[in-house]
Parts: sequence; C-alpha cells; structure tokens
Amino acid sequence: FLPHLIASLEQVDQTYIMVKPDGVQRGLVGEIITRFEKKGFKLTGLKLFKCSKDLAEEHYKDLKGKSFFPKLIDYITSGPVVCMAWEGVGVVASARKLIGSTDPLQAEPGTIRGDLAVQTGRNIVHGSDSPDNGKREIGLWFNEAELVHWTPAQAAWLRE
Ligand code: GDP
Ligand code: MG
Repeated sequence: FLPHLIASLEQVDQTYIMVKPDGVQRGLVGEIITRFEKKGFKLTGLKLFKCSKDLAEEHYKDLKGKSFFPKLIDYITSGPVVCMAWEGVGVVASARKLIGSTDPLQAEPGTIRGDLAVQTGRNIVHGSDSPDNGKREIGLWFNEAELVHWTPAQAAWLRE
C-alpha cells in the first residue's frame, strides 16, 4: 500500500515534443515517435500542423535577441510540423537525453539528433527544457480538447 501511495505522489511531468519541418519532409515522423513510444512514455496529444509566424515567435520568445532568430522562425514555419504532448515521471529531462545536443554533430550516437541530423539549423526535433516550459508549450500548441487523458494497458509493466 505505502509504495503505491508514494508512487502515486511522484511528480508526473509533461513535455512538448515537435518534429520540425525537416523531420517531416525527410520522412522521420514515425522514427521519432517510435523512440518515445518504446521508452515507455505516454502520448497525450498528436497532430500535423502548419504553424503561424506569431506562434513560432511566441514559442521561441526567449531567443528573440539571437542573430539566428529570423532564420529559426522561417525554418519552423517552412512546412508542416508534428506536435506531440508526452507525459511521464521524468519525461522532460529524459526526452532531452533521447533528443541529444542542440548541435547534431555534438549529439551522441543513439540520440535522435546524433543518429539522424547534421546541422543545428536543421536539427529535426524540439523538446521542452523544463517542466514549466513543457506545460507552457503544450498550452501554446494544443487546445485542451485535443489532449487525451488515458491509462495505457502496459502501465503496470513499466512501473512497479
Ligand atoms: P534546443 O533546446 O536544443 O532546441 O536548443 P535552443 O533552445 O538553444 O535553440 C532552439 C533552436 O534554435 C535549436 O533547436 C535550433 O533549431 C535553433 N538554433 C539554436 N542555435 C542556433 C544557431 O546557432 N544557428 C541556427 N541556425 N539555429 C540555431
Ligand atoms: Mg530550447
């Protein structure tokens, strides 16, 4: 009883993962979703989407002063993206590890960027950098009605 109670009190986080336009154009959507699915996180939102300049700028507002900001906005709005919300204990930090370093040439083999990309400006996937930003970004990209709260059948086989 006590371990179950403690487990249920563990912080469940949410992260916003997005396949960027180059990942979609290169046919890597399935491959990227598979990495998070196989790890054991729970998908709670998923859509193909063409985002506006305003939304891209709001999403990346912390980078507004950077020299590459206009190029970044052009890149993110250049074609469809795949928006995802994933949930789980430790999902934010773990997803960042699965994705790898911002510069794909520095990203470790075995990570998404390390295996599948070569350039920072074409690094195929986004992942939130903190639990607060996970919530913020999911709120930005999804309506509440687009998010699904469900219990995966495998839940008891992932966590004791
Ligand atoms: P992330 O959290 O690993 O995605 O990296 P950041 O939050 O630092 O940057 C957001 C995104 O901006 C990166 O994923 C890249 O797509 C882009 N970016 C960051 N630094 C550069 C840069 O020096 N040049 C270019 N062209 N794009 C950059
Ligand atoms: Mg970032």
